[in-house]
Amino acid sequence: MHDTLTTLTELLRELPGIGPRQARRLAYWFVRRDHAWVERFARALIAARDKVKTCDLCMRLFPSEHTASRCSLCSNHHRDAHLLLVVEKDVDLENIEKTGTYKGRYFVLGGTTSNLDKEPERKVRVRELLARITLPNDTISEIVLALSATTEGEDTVAFLKEYLAPTCTNHALKISILGRGLSTGTELEYVDADTMKSALLGRS
Ligand SMILES: [Zn+2]
Repeated sequence: MHDTLTTLTELLRELPGIGPRQARRLAYWFVRRDHAWVERFARALIAARDKVKTCDLCMRLFPSEHTASRCSLCSNHHRDAHLLLVVEKDVDLENIEKTGTYKGRYFVLGGTTSNLDKEPERKVRVRELLARITLPNDTISEIVLALSATTEGEDTVAFLKEYLAPTCTNHALKISILGRGLSTGTELEYVDADTMKSALLGRS
């Protein structure tokens, strides 16, 4: 049977970027904290887990005390419902929102894929994206792919274009790509308002 320290180590190993040694070190660190602190930590973890939901339209995480299944951006009727900006992760969306340059809708893909991936559908939420753009009574007319200017970002763009092509033709949807005022390798996470504005204007 596992001792409690081993159980804790194994759980910590599941955290992103944590190897076996680091996990062991963290486990020792945790058990040396005082009881009250560990209790606060555990409660904060559970509260965050329970009060953060995934929006069923854009797939972003949002804090919700109620039974709402849609985030504030998706339920805001003043947003342009013709444009759907597809980003890789929640932080990209947050950062683009902060620049105040985009007023349309969003979709969070959840990652990128590479040409070498055998099952890209497992790496990116492409099925959910397909469901999103084919919702009845929807008014989206353009999907703007806003992925990082990296090799994986470009592979993902190519994959999405191919995967969505038949649907886009059937629904008269245009797919565009964010203009590259962004230098190669620039992550959207760090983009500023001016760059974002010109990238949106320069989309093609
Ligand atoms: Zn949403």
